[in-house]
Amino acid sequence: MMAVARDIHVQGELRYGEPMSRHTSWRVGGPAETFFLPASIDDLSAFLAELDTSTPVFWHGVGSNLLVRDGGIRGVVVSATKMLRKLERVDGYRVRAGAGLPCTQLARQCIRWGLGPSEFFAGIPGTVGGALAMNAGAHGGETWERVESVRTINRAGEFFQRAPSEYSVGYRNVTGPANEWFLEGLFRFEPGVEPSMETLNDMLERRKATQPLGLPSCGSVFRNPPGDYSARLIEAAGLKGHRIGGAEVSGKHANFIINRDNATAADIEALIDFVRRTVLEKHGVELVHEVRIVGEEAA
Ligand SMILES: Cc1cc2nc3c(=O)[nH]c(=O)nc-3n(C[C@H](O)[C@H](O)[C@H](O)COP(=O)(O)OP(=O)(O)OC[C@H]3O[C@@H](n4cnc5c(N)ncnc54)[C@H](O)[C@@H]3O)c2cc1C
Repeated sequence: MMAVARDIHVQGELRYGEPMSRHTSWRVGGPAETFFLPASIDDLSAFLAELDTSTPVFWHGVGSNLLVRDGGIRGVVVSATKMLRKLERVDGYRVRAGAGLPCTQLARQCIRWGLGPSEFFAGIPGTVGGALAMNAGAHGGETWERVESVRTINRAGEFFQRAPSEYSVGYRNVTGPANEWFLEGLFRFEPGVEPSMETLNDMLERRKATQPLGLPSCGSVFRNPPGDYSARLIEAAGLKGHRIGGAEVSGKHANFIINRDNATAADIEALIDFVRRTVLEKHGVELVHEVRIVGEEAA
């Protein structure tokens, strides 16, 4: 694979051929041609401005909703999570959070500040940026219900302040201006809603009891179809425990696929497709995957 951007001067770190298996919760994925860890927002902006416009750019959070194919990702993968971790209380009910901040930290600090409803963020093992990109949600709460504005950067390294009205937001789906990524979000919580660490801990206990936590997965693979649950449909189709290569439909939660035994991304993608086809055949319901699938198939 030809590396790109070797002549670009940066303050941060450029890695070539970085295995994406180190950066996804499934622990699979081929190499990123160039993996960029910017030192600051200015470093990132200057890099994007200088980068050849034909080079594809992919933004990575912590890879908890990502299947990177075994052939890896062409172009540049931006990993800005470490330098976008700011969290500040702006006023009574508003909080500004950097895109690299783990959602669990957002939840815990908001509870300390007495700002709710915020507990649901603790159920999302990704970053604030990933939650904005996915409209991540849990236990009845969704990210964009709380968004007042976002700050973004585009492919040319320019900055924007945007309102929710500039995005089309749905269930685990957000579309907005193309080739633009989130740097931070301004979140508004509600007066009179008292969040509690007890509710958060109960929520996490329920997850432990019902999900195969501790085994490599990406959480729920498929979105729930209207009026039903993907896990119910997959279980009723007899697919719990079904395996392709090292990938397995979890026996604990049928909408989770786990990396049981050195799975490849191809094993996981084949199992996703098998589950989708089987559910369609048996129940007549077309499941749509929630997980983002990116990159090239192995040569
Ligand atoms: C055990 C487990 C349980 C889970 N439970 C839930 C749950 O209850 N609810 C839920 O919604 N999700 C859940 N997830 C899925 C996942 O945690 C969320 O989708 C999360 O929001 C992804 O964040 P991330 O930082 O890992 O993003 P990544 O997986 O790195 O990226 C996901 C997508 O977001 C884009 N992206 C990331 N950061 C940015 C940014 N700053 N700007 C623009 N685009 C960006 C990426 O390009 C990619 O397309 C679970 C995952 C696991 C492993």
